[in-house]
Amino acid sequence: MNPILNLERVTVEFVRQRAVGRPRQVLHAVNEVDLEIAPGEAVGLVGESGSGKSTVARAITGLNPVTSGAIGVDGNSVLRAKGKDLRMLRRRFQMVFQDPYSSLDPSMSIGSTLTESLTVHGLERGPAAVERAADMLLAVGLRSADLAKYPHEFSGGQRQRIAIARALMTDPDLIILDEAVSALDVSTRAQVLDLLQGLRRDRRLAYLFIGHDLAVVQRMSDRIAVMYLGRIVEVGPADDVIRNPQHPYTASLLASVPQVGSRGAERAAELRRRLHVRADPPDPWNPPSGCAFATRCPFVMEMCRAETPPAVEIASEAVSRCHLATDAGRGTESEARWDRAREFLAMPSPAS
Ligand code: SF4
Repeated sequence: MNPILNLERVTVEFVRQRAVGRPRQVLHAVNEVDLEIAPGEAVGLVGESGSGKSTVARAITGLNPVTSGAIGVDGNSVLRAKGKDLRMLRRRFQMVFQDPYSSLDPSMSIGSTLTESLTVHGLERGPAAVERAADMLLAVGLRSADLAKYPHEFSGGQRQRIAIARALMTDPDLIILDEAVSALDVSTRAQVLDLLQGLRRDRRLAYLFIGHDLAVVQRMSDRIAVMYLGRIVEVGPADDVIRNPQHPYTASLLASVPQVGSRGAERAAELRRRLHVRADPPDPWNPPSGCAFATRCPFVMEMCRAETPPAVEIASEAVSRCHLATDAGRGTESEARWDRAREFLAMPSPAS
């Protein structure tokens, strides 16, 4: 079966020139990212702010131009498609943004907001479009009478439900949720997550769930991909990535998350004590050579500063970009240091 979404070595670069006569600088906001999402699958994408998560989403939806690589939807190239073909592909994936206040046009009624997405994609118009909009409002727990209202008449949680209803209008196969619950308070967030899980079950939707709250991403995802400075550094089944992270950066993310319960808190404290990750990420315009995490990694070796680690399959469906994932570095470092790092990576994380 074709994946519903397939990213192959997708790279997005930004270029700047600080002054006339000065050399141009290139930022690899997304750097050779490979990612597949199967029909009905939910994949979480996590990482610190500036890691490139949202640029991946914007590249998929055409909001950021792709410098190189390929993006396929059900086997069809999004980057090569044009006109009607592109519109047909685009309606198969939709996006829900973080801010429910700015993502809806305050001057448009909810009915117009929802039916507009059908018009844009050349689908139903008139009464059929209104009927579909009413159905989508019911699907997200609102009322058909809300079609006549305006965004200011709704709370943040209700606006996010409207944004989800808008995304559902074209009957997509995949929804990209870019920090879609981050701006909501805790109880509203739980309700919207329940709604998303129900919609996924009922409509066999696939999700790319972008977030920074690891507990939320784990709850919503079958697999998790971890991004650091534009690259995916670890991918694997969600529970495995959270319980037993194989990349030092993933472990450092977990160590920084407040844990619920004394056992989790103890483990987090132990990870923090043993990891000693330097707080400041490097300047993305001037990244370190070799492994991008080398300036912060407590296990950094000589080879890490010289060679970019390749993506290595470490288990079924699990990939890590770290020299510790192979035996290539063994012998270049002291045996004790190597074993200490490997022992650390086998250690269960605080969430297990
Ligand atoms: Fe740390 Fe080296 Fe692995 Fe990078 S490749 S995460 S620096 S051990």
